[in-house]
Parts: sequence; structure tokens; C-alpha cells
Amino acid sequence: MKKINIAIDGWSSCGKSTMARQLANALNYIFIDSGAMYRAIALYFIQQRINLDDHLAIEKGLEQISLSFQKNIQTGNNEIWMNGENVEQLIREMEVASKVSDVAAIKAVRAFAVAQQQAMGQQKGIVMDGRDIGTVVFPNAELKLFVTADPAIRLERRYQELLQTNPAIIREEVAANLQQRDLMDSTRAHSPLKQADDALVLDNTNLDRAQQFELAMKWAMEKIN
Ligand code: C5P
Repeated sequence: MKKINIAIDGWSSCGKSTMARQLANALNYIFIDSGAMYRAIALYFIQQRINLDDHLAIEKGLEQISLSFQKNIQTGNNEIWMNGENVEQLIREMEVASKVSDVAAIKAVRAFAVAQQQAMGQQKGIVMDGRDIGTVVFPNAELKLFVTADPAIRLERRYQELLQTNPAIIREEVAANLQQRDLMDSTRAHSPLKQADDALVLDNTNLDRAQQFELAMKWAMEKIN
């Protein structure tokens, strides 16, 4: 069967990664969460106390970062490793979430991440989700989806997800973070979040996971056949 690349972009917490993972599993493709790469870079800059105005420190810092995705045998999920450590959980913390959009707006950071993402796509059979996948990373992807959902629904989903690992999480903090990231991600100078001209829009406000998957899978099979 012909292999394609699937680019999934959209707002924060709109279910992109869940759908991307489902599609990759069903098609036996590789799922890459590009946001995890920006989160891991942000984590490194926090750990090393790198000042985001210090371009030289950023360039040097990036040279020290080695990222890879490895399958967790227990869950079957592709998880992100940085410099020999599994950081999949650490990158989901609020401290990282509050810095990641500033880090992802830096040109050198984007060049670093995009080069690796494009290399991963060369063999086809990739489902990648993010903000600039259909516009910048894989402008020739055979299928591009732009995912959106009502902001209140997105907040509720992210709040419930974070609550599972952090019972002390504050809803207002999560709301503020989502708003701030959406604004920064869609207004930054380099590779802002925007719908590719040839992307199909998937509004999942009134869809559950199974319905969303069914629709995306239908579109994917149309492109594959
Ligand atoms: O997808 P996720 O919400 O985990 O992404 C975290 C952040 O990484 C986003 O808010 C955005 O700032 C950045 N990002 C990006 N480009 C991508 C994926 C994520 O700028 N392709």
C-alpha cells in the first residue's frame, strides 16, 4: 500500500495528538509529536537557565541537545528522550508549558527542530502533529488536517488531562496558559500557526474520539487509495 505523510495542525489542546496517534496505530505509521520537541528544548533551557535573549547561549545550548523518539514497550506509545533521559512526563509540567511558546518563537530553535522533523518524513509513513507541519515542515504532505474546537471544550479536556497527574492543578492557570499559547503561536514572526490552503478542517467540538478518528481515517484512506 502507498505510504503518505499526514500533517496535523491546530490550536492547543484540540485533540491533535490523540488523533495523530490513533491514525498512526491504524495505518502502522510512525507518530511524531512535534510539540514534544519544542517542550523538551524549553525544558533544557529552563534546566540550564539559558536566557532567551542570549542568542549565543541558545546556539550553544542547541548543540548540546540530542532528541529522539522511542517506543515505550508497556504503553506502545512513542515517547521523547533528551540526552539519554525519557522526558515525556517532565515536559508536560506547567513550568514548561508556560515557557514553551517563547522558546518555539526563536528562529534558531525552529530551524533545529524542523530539520530533524523533515529528516523523519523522508521515508513517508509519518503522522506528525504541531502548528506548522502542513505549512513549513511538510508542505507537500499528501493529507493535511487543521483541527479546531470550541475554546471551552479545549480547556475542559486539557484540565481533565492534567488533573490526572496533578490533583492541585488550577483551572484558571490552565485557561490562561492555553490562551497565551494560542495567541503567541498564531502571531509570532516565524512559522505562525495557520491553516494551510490545502488543509481539510476538522472541528471536533461535537465529536468524540471515535467519531473524530473515523472521519480522519476516511480522509486518509481516500488519499492512500
Ligand atoms: O503540541 P503542544 O501543545 O504540546 O506544543 C507545545 C508548544 O510547542 C506550542 O504551544 C507551540 O508553542 C510549540 N509548537 C510549535 N510548532 C509545532 C509544535 C509545537 O511552535 N510544530
